[in-house]
Amino acid sequence: MEGIRGKTVVVTGAGSGIGRASAQRFAAEGANVVVSDIDEQAGHESAATIKDAGGDALFVPVDVADTASVEHMIDVAVETYGSLDFAHNNAGILTDFAETTNITEGQWDRILAINLKGVWTCMKAELPVMTEQGHGAIVNTASEAGLVGMGGLSSYSAGKHGVVGLTKSVALEYASRDVRVNAIAPGPTKTNIQSGLIGGDLRSMSLRQRLGAGVRLLQTVIRTIRAEYDTSAIRDVPMDRIADPEEMAGVVAFLCSPDASYITGHTLPVDGGQSAD
Ligand code: NAD
Repeated sequence: MEGIRGKTVVVTGAGSGIGRASAQRFAAEGANVVVSDIDEQAGHESAATIKDAGGDALFVPVDVADTASVEHMIDVAVETYGSLDFAHNNAGILTDFAETTNITEGQWDRILAINLKGVWTCMKAELPVMTEQGHGAIVNTASEAGLVGMGGLSSYSAGKHGVVGLTKSVALEYASRDVRVNAIAPGPTKTNIQSGLIGGDLRSMSLRQRLGAGVRLLQTVIRTIRAEYDTSAIRDVPMDRIADPEEMAGVVAFLCSPDASYITGHTLPVDGGQSAD
């Protein structure tokens, strides 16, 4: 892909899944990659995979919900590489599996702080650098849940709808300043978010929450979270399979590249045709 070699990119949530694949793809295209994650061990591992493959990577720890931490990440990127050409604001969590009335205020605040505010904190730090240098491209990770509702995942879906709206609005603000802002809306993808749900959050729901959610919700939950193993989830995907993280990474790189020079404010579903249904 043309136009990425020698550029600098920051990828959040790069310790795992889609973010790791994105960081590796940018590095393979010749970019200097700032690998950022709240999980330091995972982040270091991602950076090591890039260096082992001959690429350029620097791990910087970040909590995207914390403005000072994000500002530090961007400062380090610019001090180290001298510019910030691209950003993939991707870090996210998926914790609450409950009907809306069973979500606690703490759970609601946490998921919105990371999944929505975290995209805003990143763009707030990235945009001044990109504006100053006169160019830049940002890709935010939304979700299919940012395009349609999802029973049992209302807080996640609300945050991801927010990412879509934020992406459009910021794109309008910066369109005339040569900074493009787009998003991807992944469908089910083989990452820790999917497997983590199987092993963690569902089991941690109280009996009351599980009963409250009801059989229909549990069927939805199981279909969604066991996507890797449960063919019924795949049945919902017209392409009959769930995605590899690398299939997201290529689209992120494209949206940052000059090939996408006239695309801004767009949320691109990468979902095996799910959103066409
Ligand atoms: P993942 O769990 O493999 O990766 C998420 C990464 O984000 C982890 O490395 C985690 O440590 C990091 N992270 C979490 N909180 C953070 C914080 N506060 N600050 C910095 N880093 C933090 O999951 P993934 O599937 O690769 O998720 C990446 C993005 O893709 C998320 O925004 C997720 O909502 C979105 N998404 C995933 C799917 C899917 O099916 N996997 C579908 C749609 C959207």
